[in-house]
Amino acid sequence: MLFFKQKGKIDFVSATRSLPGLLLLGCMFLAPLSLAALPERIRYCVDPDWLPYEAVIDGRHVGISSDYIRYLSESTGSRFELVPTLSWSDTLQALQDGRCQLTPMLNRSPEREEYLHFTGVYFRSPNVLVSLREQPFLQSLDNIGDRSLAVPEGYRLLEYLANYYPQTQVLPVDNEASGLAAVAAGRADLFIGSLYSINALIQQQGLYHLKIAGWVGLEDELRMGVTAELAPYIPLIDQVLTSLSDAERIQTYRNWTQIELIERTSYRLAWQVTVVAMLIILLLMAWNLRNRTFNRQLQEKNQQLEQTRARLERAIKKLQYVSSHDPLTKTYNRNHFDQSMQTQQRRQAKHADAFSLIVLDIDHFKAINDQHGHLVGDQVLQELAALVMAEVRDGDQVTRWGGEEFVILCQKTNLQEAEVLAERIRNRLENQLFAGIIQLSCSFGIAEQAKKEPLMHCFERADKALYQAKAEGRDRICVATTVAPEI
Ligand code: GH3
Ligand code: MG
Ligand code: MG
Repeated sequence: MLFFKQKGKIDFVSATRSLPGLLLLGCMFLAPLSLAALPERIRYCVDPDWLPYEAVIDGRHVGISSDYIRYLSESTGSRFELVPTLSWSDTLQALQDGRCQLTPMLNRSPEREEYLHFTGVYFRSPNVLVSLREQPFLQSLDNIGDRSLAVPEGYRLLEYLANYYPQTQVLPVDNEASGLAAVAAGRADLFIGSLYSINALIQQQGLYHLKIAGWVGLEDELRMGVTAELAPYIPLIDQVLTSLSDAERIQTYRNWTQIELIERTSYRLAWQVTVVAMLIILLLMAWNLRNRTFNRQLQEKNQQLEQTRARLERAIKKLQYVSSHDPLTKTYNRNHFDQSMQTQQRRQAKHADAFSLIVLDIDHFKAINDQHGHLVGDQVLQELAALVMAEVRDGDQVTRWGGEEFVILCQKTNLQEAEVLAERIRNRLENQLFAGIIQLSCSFGIAEQAKKEPLMHCFERADKALYQAKAEGRDRICVATTVAPEI
């Protein structure tokens, strides 16, 4: 510890151990009046927002001047009590109305000399001009022309400008931060302030589109200011202040200009950005994964659906086939026959195409069954159906009407053409052995649908013709006589 600490009195033993202490003791003996001990309690005020020089954070005095106040307190034993103020202007007001007796860091100016007494200069810092990055370098106040200039309220610079640059357009602002904000937002062309605090603010607030545009000749020569009641102690305060070594002054300055806060802030910002970026990436990945899973499930479901649809289609086709075909002979069944008859009836109403029916029945089929058994009888039925289906045209329909009786619906076929078809089938039967051993014949009844004749009526006529063929001795074709159409 550089200074002796005991409160209210001087610790000679400690004082003699350091050179500044010795100097101070020497001075006290040489000038006893001016070196009278400081009052036990001193009320002081600071600029609440002027880092790195000084500020009040959470009710505590911080910044370069706080180190000097501490040195002063430690070396004199006086207790320095911080009186809170709202702004620098308020601090100056507080000094005038007696709320505080000392302020540790300010410039001397004629106006302030009316109510303050000053110590010697113990800290110097240059004043600079700040502008937007794209503005030209102005070098000094002489070149600012008609540009507007933001200056913090209560700063000595206001007096300086009024004296030496009275034509300058001055825009008073609350503090340095507001001045920088005014330039950043284009409300003022320039800001004038202390290099160190401006530097700190630019970094803290990320105002990197601002730059130092020039050097103001006026340098901050910072001193302590005291009210009249402390004026006698100025020599003592000066002695303490000047007793600091250059190394200690530099350290004090460094303590507050390394701007740890800014680094922490920027780390925090970097962390926040990283965390947010990672969260976004994670969300995107989760979203992507969910989409992929969803798409895969969708694809699987689509495949299943497609398979089900194909199975259903096959089942429907099978069902349609089963519901319209005779399982033994693969010809159409009665169900399909009835539908075909209705369709044909409707078609007949629109088109006048010829249409004929052939009804055929196996002769003495009972005997075949009896002689060869039912299985052979079934085989005979299958072979006969295949033979008939091979003989008819594509548009014709072969139906198993019942037992061993079949009906052929012949599209666009008149009676003569139907008779030719029946004859062809009858001839084929003569030359074929069924089940490899059985010779059989069929009887045929044929009718052509008359104009406007109901189809069932036509079918009955063909059936009658079949019975006629049976009656006449079988293995023959009988043609139904044409009848007057029923209306
Ligand atoms: P017709 O010349 O007068 O027609 O004499 P038919 O013996 O052919 O006639 P009938 O009506 O007396 O006999 C028909 C026989 O057809 C009786 C029945 O057992 C046989 N039948 C009917 N459906 C089937 C079948 O699906 N399979 C077998 N094997 N026989 C059948
Ligand atoms: Mg028969
Ligand atoms: Mg029969």
